[in-house]
Amino acid sequence: TLTSRLQGAFQKLRGKGRLSEDDVKEALREIRRALLEADVNHVVAKEFIERIRERAVGQEILQSLSAAQQVVKIVNDELTDLMGGAQAKLARAAKPPTVILLVGLQGAGKTTAAAKLARHLKASEHRRPLLVAADIYRPAAISQLQVLGEQIGVQVFTLGDQVNPREIALRALDEARRGGFDYVLIDTAGRLHIDETLMQELQDIEKSVNPDEILLVVDAMTGQDAVNVASHFREQLSLTGIIMTKLDGDTRGGAALTVRHVTGCPIKFVGIGEKVDALEPFYPDRMASRILGMGDVMTLIERAQAAIDEKDALELEAKIRRNEFTLEDFLSQLQQVRKLGPLDQLLGLIPGMGKFKQLQGATVDESQIKKIEAIIYSMSIAERRNPDLVMKSSSRRQRIARGSGTEVRDVNQLLRKFDDMRKLMKQFSSLGKNPSRALGGLANQL
Ligand code: GDP
Ligand code: MG
Repeated sequence: TLTSRLQGAFQKLRGKGRLSEDDVKEALREIRRALLEADVNHVVAKEFIERIRERAVGQEILQSLSAAQQVVKIVNDELTDLMGGAQAKLARAAKPPTVILLVGLQGAGKTTAAAKLARHLKASEHRRPLLVAADIYRPAAISQLQVLGEQIGVQVFTLGDQVNPREIALRALDEARRGGFDYVLIDTAGRLHIDETLMQELQDIEKSVNPDEILLVVDAMTGQDAVNVASHFREQLSLTGIIMTKLDGDTRGGAALTVRHVTGCPIKFVGIGEKVDALEPFYPDRMASRILGMGDVMTLIERAQAAIDEKDALELEAKIRRNEFTLEDFLSQLQQVRKLGPLDQLLGLIPGMGKFKQLQGATVDESQIKKIEAIIYSMSIAERRNPDLVMKSSSRRQRIARGSGTEVRDVNQLLRKFDDMRKLMKQFSSLGKNPSRALGGLANQL
């Protein structure tokens, strides 16, 4: 994958004090190969590499960073820029309703994206969207939208398939004004390939309803084709943004990396699954760190915050700071973390987790967690609060092993993990922005 290829390139820079031209050249060659393999357009890849070369050669290595980390940082910044830098937000009309036109080829995911977006607006932003069925060609298009609308509790406007799309859009707008809807999402027809008739129809709709957003829906799985499609649409319509779908699939990621650079159009949302809640706002910086395998701390924090009780988290944070985190906390965190989701997936979000691969392997296993629980339950309260007692006494360790039906080496292993984890948590808690609040709840699977 792109991530593992890039990490391979950085690996070779480990342990270097100052970056020589040759070191950089070698790393850049690898990065370039990784980009091309991910289906990044070769012109874009070349420019990208050039910018990194300029910044990387001859750089003094900061004391706190290794050469590899420094290059990772540069690549991360450049990837973020390539994808547009800041998050591109959805437009909002000064006077509602905000009109959003969804366009794209057949099968790209327009209808699904319309429903996902409606759900997002409704659930996350407490808006009142109206979905509009303006695909009158595909036999089941209208009912597809109606089914989705029902599922998310959003009204669907339709005039059947005998009225032309331009007329449907206009009448929907009237309906929205009358009904107090603040967003109008127009689902349009697609073709298998770009053609005149399709473009003419879309241009007609654009002229008559003057949308605040024209979002092109493209399928990430089609790689560079998605970028070409975007270029074509951009010539014909005033695109304001892109929804890239199917990023959950086995995509090589090149399209997401380059479409903004090639077309000037920002990705505003990404589709990451078939279900109506599988839509996320697109953040270039988070995407960059995900690609680099440095973890996506922000996503992690959001998910953890959603699952971990706020008060508990604050207490925990204070404990970490005071270095008072105990085995009791460990146990309760271990139990909480299971609510968050599949462990492997969560671990992938934590930066630097790569180093702890062996520990991961041991704990993703549910039976291992049960064992840890049993060991901690077999300790006295004093021991749970002060693990040093156990560390220092082999008779305590023997007693605990017997009590929990485990071996002394299991007890030792747990104590070691706990110690490692405490160190890791301290490290995270110096990351700023209260990451420990979130990570405190997570680092415990070690
Ligand atoms: P349209 O022709 O552009 O309206 O495309 P549809 O919305 O009908 O979607 C085409 C197919 O792609 C459907 O089977 C969707 O379930 C699927 N699909 C859409 N978005 C995503 C996504 O983000 N991930 C995955 N895995 N499938 C998607
Ligand atoms: Mg459709």
